[in-house]
Amino acid sequence: MSMRRYTVFLLFFICFYGYAQQFEVLPLGVYGGGDESNLSSYLVRDFKTPNYIACDAGTIRAGLLKAEEKGNLSKPPMQFLQENVKAYFISHSHLDHLSGMIINSPEDGPKSIYALPPTIQTLKDHYFINATWSNFANEGENPILGKYEYKRMREGKSYAIAETDLHLTAFPLSHPVPSSAAWLHNELGYSILYLGDTGPDSIEGDGHLKDLWKAVGKDLKKGKLKAVFIEVSFTNSQPDNMLFGHLTPKYLAEELQQLAKFAGKKNLKDFPIVITHIKPDADNIVLIKKELQESNDLEVKYIFPEQGVPLQF
Ligand SMILES: [Zn+2]
Ligand SMILES: [Zn+2]
Repeated sequence: MSMRRYTVFLLFFICFYGYAQQFEVLPLGVYGGGDESNLSSYLVRDFKTPNYIACDAGTIRAGLLKAEEKGNLSKPPMQFLQENVKAYFISHSHLDHLSGMIINSPEDGPKSIYALPPTIQTLKDHYFINATWSNFANEGENPILGKYEYKRMREGKSYAIAETDLHLTAFPLSHPVPSSAAWLHNELGYSILYLGDTGPDSIEGDGHLKDLWKAVGKDLKKGKLKAVFIEVSFTNSQPDNMLFGHLTPKYLAEELQQLAKFAGKKNLKDFPIVITHIKPDADNIVLIKKELQESNDLEVKYIFPEQGVPLQF
């Protein structure tokens, strides 16, 4: 091939891959309470491979059944869970982020559980024990059934997730218990960011979100970061002293302005921000959507995920 033809080919290749979709995310649960059949869990896969990592596991089976009902599942739900979900990332130890994993553990297949050390400690001390369930993990109370392997993550260190073509890095977040975000990269360097529950820096005061925005901002600027999944639990009417480590539309807008400082304001325009963890009480869903649009000065693209309906990025 001549140099010129080679260059044209290379440019085409780069453009094609630059615009091609990189990730599929199948939401198994999208709310932050109130409905135990629809709590935080998002299956993420690189588009070239059929295997997923589950970011949180509040609801598993009800989400898979919903996906099947909508024609979005390639095999029966529990077979899919056993064969195609290769690992869990648990953002923090609250039940709405892991109860689906516990309840379905007898029928699940072997997997790793990735989390920061305090979350693993809670699983080991309080959930995978005989008084509340059985020990399906590989450490702790006897009898040790050993189906799940605990993987204690170091903040900021990248881990290759077996059989998924994904690399996972965890960052700390502020919440009543230690919480975390998962930054998932594929082999081409594209990424998706999933945040567990978090309060805003201006209330929590420890700068965890600023550190996170600094880490991912460069990738967003280069077009390598494809989407951010972040919580908005309450409407703007929630008093500051009743936030319990969560965000409202007002505080999300404040945090996105922080992100824009590292990523460039113009790069946030039409950038996908997926809203998770709404508490679906009264008319919260309608109000939160309205308040988000009203404060959307950066013109990001707000996406409201639906249980069992895949998203592409
Ligand atoms: Zn939660
Ligand atoms: Zn929580």
